[in-house]
This record gives sequence, structure tokens and C-alpha cells, in this order.
Amino acid sequence: MPENPPPTAKLPQSPGPRRRRLWLLLLVPLLFVAQFWFMRAAPPPMDYSQFETELDHDNIASVVIVPESRALRGSLRKGATADGKPMRHFAVTLPFTDPATLVARLRAKGVQIEGGENGSLWATLLVSVLPWLLIVGFWLVAFRQVRLGGTQALAFGRAKTGSVTPETPKITFADVADVAEAKAELQEIVAFLKNPEHFQRLGGHLPKGVLLVGAPGTGKTLLARATAGEAGRPFLTISGSDFVELFVGVGAARVRDLFVQGKAHAPCIIFIDELDAVGRTRGIAAVGGAHEEREQTLNQLLVEMDGFSPSEGIILLAATNRPDVLDPALLRPGRFDRRIVIDLPDVKGREQILRMHARKVPLADDVELAVVARGCPGLSGADLANLINEAALLATRREKDKVDQQDLEDAKDKVTLGMERRSLVLTEAERRTTAYHEAGHALVNLRIGCLDPVHKVTIVPRGQALGLTYAVPEVDRHNYTREYLLAQLAVAEGGRVAEELVFGPDKVTTGAAQDFAQATEMARRLVTHFGMTDALGTMTVSDAPAALLLGHEFASHGETSEATAELVDREIRRLLAEATARARALLEADTPLLHRIADALVEHETLDRSMLDGLVRDAKASARPPIPEPPRRKVKQAHPPSAAA
Ligand code: ADP
Repeated sequence: MPENPPPTAKLPQSPGPRRRRLWLLLLVPLLFVAQFWFMRAAPPPMDYSQFETELDHDNIASVVIVPESRALRGSLRKGATADGKPMRHFAVTLPFTDPATLVARLRAKGVQIEGGENGSLWATLLVSVLPWLLIVGFWLVAFRQVRLGGTQALAFGRAKTGSVTPETPKITFADVADVAEAKAELQEIVAFLKNPEHFQRLGGHLPKGVLLVGAPGTGKTLLARATAGEAGRPFLTISGSDFVELFVGVGAARVRDLFVQGKAHAPCIIFIDELDAVGRTRGIAAVGGAHEEREQTLNQLLVEMDGFSPSEGIILLAATNRPDVLDPALLRPGRFDRRIVIDLPDVKGREQILRMHARKVPLADDVELAVVARGCPGLSGADLANLINEAALLATRREKDKVDQQDLEDAKDKVTLGMERRSLVLTEAERRTTAYHEAGHALVNLRIGCLDPVHKVTIVPRGQALGLTYAVPEVDRHNYTREYLLAQLAVAEGGRVAEELVFGPDKVTTGAAQDFAQATEMARRLVTHFGMTDALGTMTVSDAPAALLLGHEFASHGETSEATAELVDREIRRLLAEATARARALLEADTPLLHRIADALVEHETLDRSMLDGLVRDAKASARPPIPEPPRRKVKQAHPPSAAA
């Protein structure tokens, strides 16, 4: 809407702050000169004892005494030295207020005596009044700032947007791995930025705003920068959280300023990171000033978005990982009406991203990035970049020339599971309990066919955990069956069940707390979100805690009746109890293998998949009944296997 006044109407105001800044610039050197002048005018200080000595030696020519401030200035007959420097004049602070005795002594010595003024009037004025002037001035300016809604004065609103220096990024789409679909969608914007007139000649219609939606670290910022880089146009960026300020109105001023800058550099890209920080739904439970400030900022953003047409050459990109909380007004046609979803990379994508970042480090011949990529489902692009970096650091610490597969595997474990804490010394008893706990998880997993295979079991403490059993899917999973989720519940319970079976119910430990938390959460989702129990059927239940009553979430979810809440609790308890019983049945049927795995863990600390398979094979072989001997001719019946055993 071209008639919209704010952006252009505000433009002529910009010289205001500039002139003010000029004054400030002049004032600072003036103050310095004044201070220098006063300092120079003051004679060097002399301590009172030296003054007495000089008086005894008849070296004092004249003095000026100011009794109120116990100050005495004077001149010497022959000169003297203080701190190695020659002096003719001096200033002394008298250690008493009544100078009568001193005056008598001075007269006896024939010193010329004068009474003086209590310091320089100007200096006194300056020292006593200037701080007040500054304080009052500051408050006036701040007050005006608030009254004007932060549009003028001291340029709080400019402070940060001023630091938004438009730059033309050097990176292009070639520096972004994977995300081919997102790149294809953004190609259109690149074409427009490269040549806006040409684009519009054919009646091309472009979106004003494109929303990049994806989990943190999936490369939204990278992609936005690459879009500007690909087109060779300026990129202005600011984060949504930068807009939200203490002073009401400052955020709105920043938005205005951002667009003024955008227009000056068009065609260009304005990128707002964390749009949800500023763009949350307005009007619900406005408690405290923060809401008011955010709403003003958001309103200004909407006004600015309506205030330019694509022909001006500004493309607005924004990133968020919470599109669900955005104000619907932001998503209306003519605003952020196009959405590009960036998912976490799948196994192929992970390999490509690893390959891209691995270009910067020397790799050994044994490196298989595809294997690394398979072992880290759920990692984002940022995590993968970090993985390569960690591997390079590990290789350096191990004094290798190249990064090898072991470095990459260890870096992967560090990024996915947390840092090993080898310094944490466990007692022998703790090691045994942890070993049985992990063996319990691993064995339940091995015995339930439908799960991801166990990749690694370890009793080396990592992060908060004393041990870990780590299962990796063969292929990325996007959807889970009921069978799979129930099996996961049994695996989670397997740790505690194993402890109980081996050491007795009184000796179980706190190590299972995290398992229980995860299992309970999974059971809750099974009941309340996935419609996988008969008791609730396909009814979904909000899990918004009471704390969100003040926020938007509550309003959109509706209430849960007490009866339903009770039913949910009962169902969760039932699922967990069934999972525990299932784990117990499996482990009781396989106790010898449980002991073998636990013993191997105590011995080796970490077991990988092949070692586990070996243990399973050995257990099978030793449990197999001996092959009955072929019946001899004379014997009619062979021994039954049980008798032979
Ligand atoms: P977001 O904005 O989504 O939180 P970023 O764009 O800040 O994520 O990504 C952080 C870093 O992760 C990037 O600087 C880059 O090193 C890496 N990264 C993420 N996605 C990719 C990708 N698709 N290709 C290459 N590197 C990526």
C-alpha cells in the first residue's frame, strides 16, 4: 500500500539524532580542555612537613591562605624540589582549621600573607552543577524517547540496527549440502534479486516473505545467506530476540530502521532469525510490559510488510522452529505466505553434509563417511559440522596427520551420547550393577525382533549416564508402529528388571531413573497422542501443563476432564507394568546369556555389535543339547537327550 505513511514520513527525522551526536562530539573535547586548564592552573602539592621545613629555612616568600578549605598556596624564595622536580609555587593542605598560630609564625619569618578566595568560582560551578545537568539531560531524553515511542532521541532504536551492516555473503548454494528442494524453491528469489525488472516484465509475481521452518541447526540461516550470495545482493540480518527490548517502542523503531536500510540497499534480502521471538500470537494474556513491547514490534513489522511492494526489490526471509505459535496475521497472503520446510537430514543428506565439511580436513584412506552417517540419525547439519570438527580435534590430540575412521566414530559418540567421563571412578560393585543394567537393556532388545539392532553397549560413563546401550536403525525411521513402541518400553524397563533379578529387589539402584522418565513419556504419548490404546481410543489429550495457562497454548487446547486425566494415568501405569512383565519374562528365560553379557562388559567395558553377536552364538552353542550318537545296531533305543546331558 503505497499511501502508508510511516516509513517515508520518518525519513526526514534522521538528521535529528545526527545533529545531537555532533554536539556530543564537540562537548567531549571541550570538557577535556577545561579539565586540563584547571589542572594546569593549580600549583603542585607539597606536604605540610616539607612546608614547615621550608619555613624553618626561611625559604617561603609569600602565601595565600583560604581557611574555609584549609588550603594554602605559596611561592618560594630559592625554589625547592618535590618528587625530584623543581618547584617555585606550591599548594598545601593544612592539618588544622584555625591558622592563627601559623600566621603568627609566618609573620615572625617576614613572609608576605594574603587571604584568598575559596577556589575558582567557575571551577566550583562546573564541578557542582555539571553532573546534575548531565543527569537531568539524560532523563529528559529518556522520557522523550518513551513518549515518542522510541522513534527519535538518543537512537536506542538505532543502536542495534545501526550495527546491521549489509554485506554480500560469499557463500552460494554450492556451500549448502542436501536440502535440494529448498534450494529449488529459493532459485526463484535468486532470479528475481539478480534482475528484478526482467522478472516483472513477464508479469512474475513474487512472495514478499518466505518463512524457513525447521529444527535448530538445520541450516536455515545458511540457506538464507546463500540465497543472497547466489544472487550477489546485500544481506541484512537481525534476530527476533534483538527486537524485544526493555523500553516499549524500541523494538518498533528497530523494525522501521531495518526497512529503511533495506530500501536503501534494494534489491536485497532482509533476514529475521527467530521470528517466533517477536511474532507470537498477540492479545492473549497480556501480562507485563514485555507483551506490550512485543505487540508494538509485531504491529510495526506488519505495517512495514504492507508498506512495500515486491517491485521495491526487498525480499523478506524469516526463520523459525515454532511456526505453530506465530500470529496468524503474519501468515496471511501478502506477508509470510510461502513456507519452506527444512527437515533434519536423512542418511544420504547426512553423508553429503559430512562430506562437505570434511573437505576442510585431511582424511585417512579408511574413512567411510557413509558408515558414520548411518550411525547418527537425528543429528542436524550443525551437529554434523561439529562432529567433523571434534574428529579433527581428536586426531590432533592423538598426534595423527589425518583424521581416521576411529576419530570420526569417537567424535560421533561424543556428539550423540555426550563426553566420556573416564575420570569418574566407579567401585567394583557399581561397575557390576551397571553392567547388569546395560546387559538387561541389550538382551531384551536382542530378544525382541522388531527393534533397531544394538550398535554398542558400554559401562564407560558418559554425560550423566553411568552406562549406555545404543541402538541404531538400519534405515531412517519416519513412522513408528505400536509393536515397535511397546518393544521400546520393554527395553527401557529391562535395565531395572535385570538388576532386580540378579541382586534382589532391595539392591536395585537409582540408575534407572532416566529410563523410567523416558518410558513414562513414551507411554503417555502412546495413550494421549497416537491413539494406540483401547481405553482412550483415538481421542487425543492435551499435555499442556498448568503453567501454560497464561500463554497461548492453553487457549488453543481446551480442557481435559478429571475422569480422562485419571484414565490416562491408569493406562500409562498399565502399559509400563506390562512392559516390565515382558522384560522379566525374556530375561528370566535367558539368564545365562545375561550373565555372559554382564561379565563381558565388566571385562571389556564396551561391546560392539560383533562382540554381542559372538556372545549370543556362544550361548546358543553351549545351550544346545549334545547330538545323540547314532544308534548302534544292537541297541534298540538311543538315550533321550536329557538323560545324556
Ligand atoms: P539454523 O539457522 O537452522 O539454526 P544454521 O544455518 O545456523 O542453522 O546452521 C549452523 C551451521 O550448521 C552452519 O553454519 C553449517 O556449518 C552447518 N549446516 C547446517 N546445515 C547445513 C547444510 N545443509 N549443509 C552444510 N552445512 C550445514
